[in-house]
Amino acid sequence: MITGKTGLMGIMGDPVEHSLSPPMHNAAFQQLKLDHVYVPFHVKRGNLAPAILGARNMGIKGLNLTIPHKIEVINYLDELDEVAELIGAVNTVKFTETNAVGYNTDGVGAVKAIEEATPVKGKKIIILGAGGAARAISFQLLLSGVGEVLIANRTREKACNLRDDLKETSMASVDCLGLDDELTWELKDTDVLINTTPVGMHPHQDDEPVVTSDMMHSDLVVNDIVYNPLETGLLREAGKAGAQAINGTKMLIYQGLESFSIWTGVTPPVEVFETALMRELGY
Ligand code: NAP
Repeated sequence: MITGKTGLMGIMGDPVEHSLSPPMHNAAFQQLKLDHVYVPFHVKRGNLAPAILGARNMGIKGLNLTIPHKIEVINYLDELDEVAELIGAVNTVKFTETNAVGYNTDGVGAVKAIEEATPVKGKKIIILGAGGAARAISFQLLLSGVGEVLIANRTREKACNLRDDLKETSMASVDCLGLDDELTWELKDTDVLINTTPVGMHPHQDDEPVVTSDMMHSDLVVNDIVYNPLETGLLREAGKAGAQAINGTKMLIYQGLESFSIWTGVTPPVEVFETALMRELGY
């Protein structure tokens, strides 16, 4: 039951009605008997400043931010943690009596998802795409001690811009590629391939994947962060090559668990988030 003591968390986005975060967080609050509730807030582009001010003044304890607010929100916070500062985007805010601190749990969510299959330390990793998700994941991979990161993007220049930013913060080997023969060559001794492009996402699930089975090998781990459909064309190709496939729900689950733990100090069992998410996705 919601009372005057119930702690309020939520997500601000535009759009937000299809967010899968409320069912995951609310299931965990219930399971752990925490007197909190998690609500979606439709905050339109241009309305974020008054929305954050309102959240602070209404005693909201924590927020997630999604498209299009992850970068702008930084202007309205008092502090950023190290990872959010490096990435330059925030998906989680914790409010206390006196301040608002920004975090980014997307990268750590992706790394934890991959580490269910293989440790990332010292590994060679190729990331397809050079947008917001690629940025969060690549910085976190460097912080996690990977050996080599290659950013492969349709617009090579954007991959090289991200490479330049990454190089400023790490001594690890980082480079940029286009989606061409060089990618095929580099894949031969790559340990982990991560797709951060929307290729294969509903309603375009029949699009040709950027990487096909003939470019993969059986020791490869392939993570597609697209979670709708659960098995994307890329993951089907991974199956054909005998490679290990990780679907996009894992990153979604682990980034959410990380936010939950930042707000409450408690990490719920993965299964609670997973069951709620699968039910919501209709599985
Ligand atoms: P973004 O900033 O718009 O970046 C998209 C990237 O994909 C760009 O580098 C773009 O290349 C590339 N791309 C787009 N269409 C392409 C195509 N047809 N062929 C080849 N490359 C293409 O997007 P984002 O925020 O990083 O999100 C990317 C995807 O990740 C979305 O599908 C999103 O739903 C998913 N995601 C999942 C999770 C999760 O928890 N599982 C979390 C965050 C995001 P150019 O530079 O050439 O345009």
